[in-house]
Amino acid sequence: MPLQLYNTLTKKKEIFRSIKPRRVGLYTCGPTVYHYAHIGNMRTYIFEDILRRTLEYLGYRVKQVMNITDVGHLTDDNDSGEDKLERGARREAKSVFSVAKFYTKAFVRDLEALNIKKPSVLSPATKHIKGQIKMIERLVKKGYAYDTAGAVYFAVLKFKDYTKLSGKKLEDQQTGAREGVAVDSSKRNPEDFALWFKIVGRFKNHILHWPSPWGDGFPGWHIECSAISTHYLGQPFDIHTGGVDHIGTHHTNEIAQSEAAFDRPLARYWLHGEFLNLSNQKMAKSAGDMVTIETLRNRGFDPLAYRYFVSLAHYRSILDFSWEGLKSAQNAYRKLLSHTARLKAQSKNKKLNTLRDASIARELKNKFIAALENDLNTPIAISIIWFVISSQRLNPKSKYRLLIDFDRVLGLQLKSAKIPNPPHMVRLLSNKREKARQIKNWKQADALRRQMSGLNWEVDDTPDGPVLIPKRQEMSQ
Ligand code: AMP
Ligand code: ZN
Repeated sequence: MPLQLYNTLTKKKEIFRSIKPRRVGLYTCGPTVYHYAHIGNMRTYIFEDILRRTLEYLGYRVKQVMNITDVGHLTDDNDSGEDKLERGARREAKSVFSVAKFYTKAFVRDLEALNIKKPSVLSPATKHIKGQIKMIERLVKKGYAYDTAGAVYFAVLKFKDYTKLSGKKLEDQQTGAREGVAVDSSKRNPEDFALWFKIVGRFKNHILHWPSPWGDGFPGWHIECSAISTHYLGQPFDIHTGGVDHIGTHHTNEIAQSEAAFDRPLARYWLHGEFLNLSNQKMAKSAGDMVTIETLRNRGFDPLAYRYFVSLAHYRSILDFSWEGLKSAQNAYRKLLSHTARLKAQSKNKKLNTLRDASIARELKNKFIAALENDLNTPIAISIIWFVISSQRLNPKSKYRLLIDFDRVLGLQLKSAKIPNPPHMVRLLSNKREKARQIKNWKQADALRRQMSGLNWEVDDTPDGPVLIPKRQEMSQ
């Protein structure tokens, strides 16, 4: 089966065909670096990483480009409010530059903690001011943009099919006028959006600004992604991604700008990751109870257990976050590590690969590929991992190889799995339990399991023998 991806633009699952053979240009909208990323943001980056790894697993060479928003993203997506970076700088009494630098570094650390591959290009918006100005000039020349006292705006009515990505009517689009929000009266249409803000009026003290044909100012948020994606990937490129909140405004505006400027589609496939919710609400940076990777660590969680938790849901379903849910995901993840480590130990110096094994392994690998090819179905992919572990038909070496192979996509660092050595007493109890099981003395076997549990060790019976797994007591709720 070929790879199929759900395309927000056409609102259906489509067979993926790359523009250039075996190569993919992928653009993923990056973070606004005025604060730590929360685990909701990181869910979106994990989904994008799974997409990239799946493409690579299937034999594509992927060029992934991500922007870093360090200017122009206002606290409200509809051109009102203030620049998030300037707000961050005020909050921390630091310069805008040091805030951007600090949170960019923190973001890269979060990527590493979650084993997310670093994009081929990670570029701040402020490094592409010239490109953005050039694009705006083009839009002004072609009659898509107009200059006012405070800003240069994109005239949405000039662009045919402006709402094609969201499939909404223009009046339902969140872009411009939202009830109760003051709209610049010099906009021709309330939905028009800013390409360039001038440092006048409410922005007269804006710290970041550059000269432009329309006077000193700074770019709007959307134009950076249009300029950066086209610069590195050309136009059109293959896949553009982000969270679902980008569909209505940010990506709609990116499409309008880029397609109006170059009369070509911006990207062929648009993929959007659903939200991570906390108490039925979208997790947001402005909310007080925002959870970061650091919060997870402080609560005794391994960031990779969060990656496992995220992979248990399909990227297009809302995922409700709870500490209980994460805890059971962490338990399962630890079991997975223990099983992998045990299989590794069992497969050393053994020549176990038979022809029969190879064909069963191939069959399971095909199932795994089919799950991913079906719009990145990671929950099924994870269930195949467990199926491999419990298989009666495969030897440990084949199992281990399969797990390591699958982990190229799942990114759970199974290769580094190590079982801590159980204490002497636990090993003794486990051996005794095995003997009891051999003579079918289930009562004694259960009693021994309880004794081991009292010492904080669990035992998992597998076709390849018992796996001893340490219980973690220190995790908080
Ligand atoms: P931002 O740093 O706010 O620009 O967001 C970075 C990425 O995280 C974007 O792709 C957003 O769509 C995504 N995002 C924001 N909030 C959530 C959430 N609660 N769950 C999943 N993704 C989110
Ligand atoms: Zn973007």
